[in-house]
Amino acid sequence: MGITRREMLKLTAATAAATALPLSLPRPRTVIAGAESSGSLTATRIAKTACIICGQKCPVEIHVAKVGGKEIISKVVYNRDPEYDQFFAVCGRPQTIPELRFLPERIRKPLLRVGKRGEGKFKEISWEEAFNILAERIKKYMDEPWRIVAVSHQGFEGGLVREFFKKVIGTPNTTQHCDTCHTGMDIGHKFIFGSPKGPSAFQPDYANADLVVLMGRNPAGGIVASAWSKIFTEGRANKMKLVVFDVRESRLTELADKYYIIPPGTDLAIALALLNVILNERLYNVDYLINWTNASMLLYVDTLEPVKLEDNPYMEKKKTYLVYDEYDQRFKLKTEAKKPALEFEGEYNRRPVKTVLLVLKDAVKEYTPEWAEKITGVPAEEIRWLAHEMARAAPRTFIDHNYKATRYYNEGMFSRAKMLVNVLLGSVGVKGGLAYPAGKPKFKSPISILGIETTKTQGEAIYKYWSKHGVENVVSKCWSQLLVKSIIEGKPYPIGVLFIHLENLVAHALTGRRLAEALKDEKRVEFIVVLDTTFNETVMYADLVLPVPFFFEAESITLGYAKKSYVSIVVDAQKAVDPPEGVDARPTWWILVELAKRLGKLDQGVKVDPVEVKKKQAEEAGLDYNELREKGYKLLWTKPKYHPWGGKPLATVTGELELINVAMLESYRDYIGKESPLNPLPCWVPPLWMRKGTLADNEFVVVEYQDSLTSINTFMRFSRLTKDVLEWKHIYGVLMHPSRAKKLGIKDGDMVKLKGPNGEIVAKVRVTEAVHPYVLAAPHATAVDKAIIPGEAVIETAGGTVKVKLFSNGGGYGVNNNFLGDPLESVVPEEGYRAAQHDFVVKVEKL
Ligand code: SF4
Repeated sequence: MGITRREMLKLTAATAAATALPLSLPRPRTVIAGAESSGSLTATRIAKTACIICGQKCPVEIHVAKVGGKEIISKVVYNRDPEYDQFFAVCGRPQTIPELRFLPERIRKPLLRVGKRGEGKFKEISWEEAFNILAERIKKYMDEPWRIVAVSHQGFEGGLVREFFKKVIGTPNTTQHCDTCHTGMDIGHKFIFGSPKGPSAFQPDYANADLVVLMGRNPAGGIVASAWSKIFTEGRANKMKLVVFDVRESRLTELADKYYIIPPGTDLAIALALLNVILNERLYNVDYLINWTNASMLLYVDTLEPVKLEDNPYMEKKKTYLVYDEYDQRFKLKTEAKKPALEFEGEYNRRPVKTVLLVLKDAVKEYTPEWAEKITGVPAEEIRWLAHEMARAAPRTFIDHNYKATRYYNEGMFSRAKMLVNVLLGSVGVKGGLAYPAGKPKFKSPISILGIETTKTQGEAIYKYWSKHGVENVVSKCWSQLLVKSIIEGKPYPIGVLFIHLENLVAHALTGRRLAEALKDEKRVEFIVVLDTTFNETVMYADLVLPVPFFFEAESITLGYAKKSYVSIVVDAQKAVDPPEGVDARPTWWILVELAKRLGKLDQGVKVDPVEVKKKQAEEAGLDYNELREKGYKLLWTKPKYHPWGGKPLATVTGELELINVAMLESYRDYIGKESPLNPLPCWVPPLWMRKGTLADNEFVVVEYQDSLTSINTFMRFSRLTKDVLEWKHIYGVLMHPSRAKKLGIKDGDMVKLKGPNGEIVAKVRVTEAVHPYVLAAPHATAVDKAIIPGEAVIETAGGTVKVKLFSNGGGYGVNNNFLGDPLESVVPEEGYRAAQHDFVVKVEKL
């Protein structure tokens, strides 16, 4: 399929100053009965808490007023304490809070399944009965605790749930969903920094930067944008220039000095071409590379093994290696050399040797800007221009870290190549570059404060089994996709109890129908217990459902901590209101404490006050709890750390930033020359969708983007406000380029069926030039796969049968790629079996 250059590339001279994220929203047109939210009511109380709709824990104030003797949430605003205000805002999502409480989809009582799994038939039971059932099921496997698996979303107590199952139950099988979020980036970074580095590992120092390049990152509207919005704005108000690569136009491209609309998953080609220009034209920072990286390390050309000095065996307990010293033109250990050469090639022991820098230069020699132009449509001269602009601005320039990096098969290699650009320009760990956050507090766990008896973990973790069976580089806490694989394939053992806490596994992982189908089988998973606030795809497959409050309806038992750009923040999440009448939800910590008592791990008589636990945590960490309680938060560190290694030697073999990773050279030598994320040398790895050749007229790649008002947790689909915003922003459905729509005879507003390798979704089309022609773009996680779950839950209650209509507001015409993709194919086994959630072809059929 050919597309014109105009379609591929848009440049804009927009120089408008950046603005903060929108903080206020139109009020919902429709308010659910009982959920009135009026800013005009006078608050009787203001509760300080923190939002956990995404992982940022932004401090918010919840204003509570009384109407007719009942407490209601009158408004939600961000914590305007001046100290906090200078750094952060919040995004628009917390505006759904008043409405969330009264969603018709709320789970009101503990429920026991009475129909078949997935059928949605339950009966209400008491908490006492629920605990008897749960304790009995868990006791059954206390001698084989590895058969109990706990999956938990973050929130305030997500970590506590995982810790409880690990330390109190003794299972090695606890996980969360980062392998569907940022694991691609983490592993890509591992090959430069020695250990996986997630999104909070770096602080983009926008405020001091001269030129920032964004690929796969949108601080003006993407996920967890709020923490970065103010420093991003500050940077733009200073002198920061902005260049953006994306598959669609957005608020971010409006703010950019230049932007390029490129095909999905091709950012890697741009990064490789930048490396090519920087290395060929010697635009790199010589001193930085000598002092902080292994660029001068000598490798044997034939085997790419590091050269060993005869009388100083390489790496024998010393973090040093052989270099060529230009000062006296001799081979020496780096620690002894005065001027290690960066571009040496010659012979050592009659074998040809080269520096790492030259091997890197050879590796990217074919990736010229002209080559990248053929893949991305971005003119070669523009790529060359960008390399020179970055070099001119260096070190106050960087390609930002991407956040949600599990979109395409090549994300790990992209993250590595992009970070190599930063390292070559000397931009990692310096002012105006990609710095490190300042620090992290350590809080004593509520489990030890309460004196809950702990044990050792037993058995082999599921991810370890898979790592012996072809899955490389699993990040030990992030293997939800591997859990899906285990459930589908029934390996390594059937699961006895699957405990799922605030994690919509069926909708969050690349699973859809296959996982749902597998969950029906009690031989694969004997018992499923789900703790959640509202009905969703996963709740429908539970045997036991335990209702928990929304985060603002309960006092948390643990202080929360977040690294928000370079600022470390502690939050005290306080209860604002009770769950509404008729909702008998209990806090997660209460459920864990009761479970501990029934398992004989805690005395029955122990009374728990969550505020006292937090007070102890604060005291032990040297924090004034009264101040924390009053303000709801405390900033701990507010300055970035400027040091190329973040302050101490890295976990690489050399302790340095490794342009070519020494451990990787040893482990993955066989991958050299292959288009694989495990190739130790940077190389082009095409996205999976591209491997099938050209796209037919009706074929697209569905790209979900994050929206600062509507996306993230699946319960937001149920909000009327979310639906109104989607309509208001004209993003209710998929965006399609007019050139493609014309070929298919599709008009704005038409309905289409999207057929993926593992499912179908119906969506409404918005025809717009603001999207790459290969792409259908949609806001993240708004769809429901109605083939997986019925439209209602049927509940036997004491007063008769009640039908709960599901997804009345959301899920109508949105998209969730996880319902289209295939869990066994759209994954990257080389990177811990992480998801590649966008990397498949979807066929469009007009309805
Ligand atoms: S960025 Fe938005 S959704 Fe995420 S925690 Fe902050 S306010 Fe909540």
